[in-house]
Amino acid sequence: MIPIEKTVSVLSTYFGFSSFRIGQEQAINNVLEGKDTLCVMPTGGGKSICYQVPALVMEGTVLVISPLISLMKDQVDALHQIGIPAAYINSTLSTEEYFGTMENAIEGRYQLLYVAPERFESQSFIQQLNRMDIPMIAIDEAHCISQWGHDFRPSYRMLNRVIDSFGRRPVVLALTATATPAVRDDICNQLRIESEHTVMTGFERSNLTFSVIKGQDREKFVKDYVKKNEGEAGIIYAATRKAVDQVHAMLERTGVKAAKYHAGLSDVLRQSEQDRFLMDEATVMVATNAFGMGIDKSNIRYVIHYQMPKNMESYYQEAGRAGRDGLDSECTLLFSSQDVITQRFLIDQSQDSQRIPAELEKLQSMIDYCHTESCLQKFIISYFGENDVQDCSRCANCTDTRERFEVTVDVQKVLSCVIRMGQRFGKTMIAQVLTGSRNKKVMEFGFDKLTTYGLMKERNAKDVSDFIEFIISENYLGVENGQFPIIYVTEQGKDVLTGVVKVYRKGTVETKQIAKDDP
Ligand code: ADP
Repeated sequence: MIPIEKTVSVLSTYFGFSSFRIGQEQAINNVLEGKDTLCVMPTGGGKSICYQVPALVMEGTVLVISPLISLMKDQVDALHQIGIPAAYINSTLSTEEYFGTMENAIEGRYQLLYVAPERFESQSFIQQLNRMDIPMIAIDEAHCISQWGHDFRPSYRMLNRVIDSFGRRPVVLALTATATPAVRDDICNQLRIESEHTVMTGFERSNLTFSVIKGQDREKFVKDYVKKNEGEAGIIYAATRKAVDQVHAMLERTGVKAAKYHAGLSDVLRQSEQDRFLMDEATVMVATNAFGMGIDKSNIRYVIHYQMPKNMESYYQEAGRAGRDGLDSECTLLFSSQDVITQRFLIDQSQDSQRIPAELEKLQSMIDYCHTESCLQKFIISYFGENDVQDCSRCANCTDTRERFEVTVDVQKVLSCVIRMGQRFGKTMIAQVLTGSRNKKVMEFGFDKLTTYGLMKERNAKDVSDFIEFIISENYLGVENGQFPIIYVTEQGKDVLTGVVKVYRKGTVETKQIAKDDP
């Protein structure tokens, strides 16, 4: 048995850290005791140490499976710098390099060997591995094994067979930053990890302040924001290459040193733009979600999402790139209802039609995040399965000092209208009925005869539509995603209808104004 005390001295001698972070020690102790383990930590939590330290105290070579080619090279370079023998095997190697590396690996020259999962599709590669002494396999980005994850990779499915193929089964350490309870179960089931061997550290990032901004001129917002935070490093994520180009050009015009990154640029340009940002030559990076995997830049003070991303997993991963150094940083999402249409369209176009319902469900949680009036940090953490979370008291919702108004009666109007319409329609149609629209479809269905027809005719359809989104985000209405999203009343919603639960909402600017103007 390897003495666990040794790990602390390895941590300080090689990595220069005086103590383990929460979760690291436990994950390391588990694997050194031979327990297969799932380690769930937020981005920047320090997952790499969880396999790098064991690799230095174990006999043999630790295999690290990672789908991120650029991360492999960065990590291997960093390990070389501190004198740790390591190498990687992926598609960027030439045939000679590949054979050279494999020869060294079989001779036991490396303490860590990083491998891209695609390699396991080759039987001869697996046979070669069997000639090595492998005490542990670390599976990074382990959510890629799950259909329920946001980045499913079929080659991850091979891993189980590979692990079983060894004469002596290596210890398995699966690592991920983004695991909802369903994904966690799936990882444990597939890799046969006992679920009680899960090490999960807080998803709360107490130095991040979240906010969602709706109905703003996005370009103007970004321009003003970047100016206000002049000299600070920040990332602006946009959903499309075109939007990246536009925002980047706009910033350059205003004299900001901005870099850009998306899949439409050449490899060389992407690399040089990334370098400019990492070296602080460009303060702002404007990018699609292609940017950021494995980027370890600690002083990013803000992340702005120019458009709503497709799910909470992506959002928290991207936003979480802010403030890795622990200093206060801001994460702002600019929302427009057009974003929902764009993301729905992208999901509908996706290759794998079987995954569409799961993707739409994830999208709905993202939309709910944009409409909730409760603590944003709490919303995120609860999404990732942590219960008993306190309000953060920092986010835009927690610090929103507008008065709270009771809106129970209005919510009841909406809910009863949904029921009277047979719970078969989407938001737009419901808003039309409530505002008393004479739209052809409304008349055809005879909805003008309903008692709830025109119950909110003093408001416009857009307002009512937003209000419905708010009710969905509070879980009083649910969305069923078929060919079209259909809205129904949830169990909690029934409690509002019967008056058991009261609903409150923060006053809008207009409401406040009216209240103030009122003598
Ligand atoms: P993850 O893979 O979870 O996103 P990393 O392994 O890249 O996170 O670590 C994030 C940052 O935290 C790195 O800069 C790393 O050097 C630092 N770090 C990791 N462990 C510790 C520790 N015990 N003490 C201080 N800093 C640490």
